[in-house]
Amino acid sequence: DNPILRKPDWIRVRASNSPVYKETQALMRDQKLVTVCEEAACPNIGECWSQRHATMMIMGEICTRACSFCNVTTGLPYALDDDEPQRVGEAVAKLGLRHVVITSVDRDDLPDGGARHFARTIGAIRAASPETTIEILTPDFLRKRGALEIVVAARPDVFNHNIETVPRLYPSIRPGARYYQSVRLLDDVKRLDPSIFTKSGLMLGFGEDKMEVAQVMDDFRIADVDFLTLGQYLQPSPKHAAVIHFVTPLEFDEYAALARAKGFLQVSATPLTRSSYHADEDFAALRAA
Ligand code: SF4
Ligand code: SF4
Repeated sequence: DNPILRKPDWIRVRASNSPVYKETQALMRDQKLVTVCEEAACPNIGECWSQRHATMMIMGEICTRACSFCNVTTGLPYALDDDEPQRVGEAVAKLGLRHVVITSVDRDDLPDGGARHFARTIGAIRAASPETTIEILTPDFLRKRGALEIVVAARPDVFNHNIETVPRLYPSIRPGARYYQSVRLLDDVKRLDPSIFTKSGLMLGFGEDKMEVAQVMDDFRIADVDFLTLGQYLQPSPKHAAVIHFVTPLEFDEYAALARAKGFLQVSATPLTRSSYHADEDFAALRAA
C-alpha cells in the first residue's frame, strides 16, 4: 500500500450541501446515470454540482483497464444499456446546460470500443438540447479499427482524450495504453474533421519532470491539439499510485505560460483542474473571442 500524503495548504476541497447540488444528485439517480464526478471521487464535485455541472460517464461503471491512479472499478463490464443515450439527452435538457462533457469507461470488450454508443449519445443530446455544445472525453480505441471515424462523424464540438502522464511513466501509471496511440488519436481527429476542437490533459505529481511535460506539450502541438489541461493528481486510496510530489501554484502558472507560448488556444493549469472543470466557461470564452 502507498500511504496518502497530507495535502498542502493550497489544495482546499469544498464540500457542498446546497439545494442545487441535491437537485443534480437526484436527477442523476432518477435518470439512472453514472457520473465521473462520483466514480473518480473528484474534489470539485461540491462546486460543480452546485452549478448543475455533472459529467456523465456512459457505458457502465466497470472499466476493462486498470490505470493505477483511477478510482473506477476494473472488471468485465455489463452489456450496453440501449436506452442510456436517450436518458443522457433528457438529463442534459433538464439541467439546461450550454456545454456538456460526456465521458466513458474503456470498453475493450466491445468490437467497436463503444464508438456507436458515443455517436448515439451525441445524437440524443443534439435532439433533446440543440443549443448545447458537446465535449466528449473518450478512451483510446486501441486496436478498434474504424471506431474513431464513427465518433468523429457524429461531430462533437470538442474531442478530448487525456494522455494522463508522460511516456516514461506509462508502464506503471497507464498500463494497457500506449502513449503514441493516444497522441495519434488526437492527430487523427483533426485530420478527419479540422472543425472539431481537440483537447488533452495530464495529471501532475507522479514524479514527472518539467522537461518531460514540455516534451508532451510539443507532441500535442505537432498533433494540432487545441486545448490543454494540467491538474494535480490526488491519490484516491492507499491501493492507488502514490503522489510523488505536489506541484505548487507558481509551478502551475509557469506551465500555463509555457503552454500559451507554445500556441495552445486554451490552457487550464491549476492544482484542481480536471478535464471537465469549468469546461463550459472556457468554451464559451473561446467562442466569444
Ligand atoms: Fe465532475 Fe468534472 Fe466537476 Fe470533477 S471537475 S466534479 S469530474 S464536472
Ligand atoms: Fe480509469 Fe479511464 Fe483508466 Fe478506465 S481507462 S481505469 S476509467 S482512467
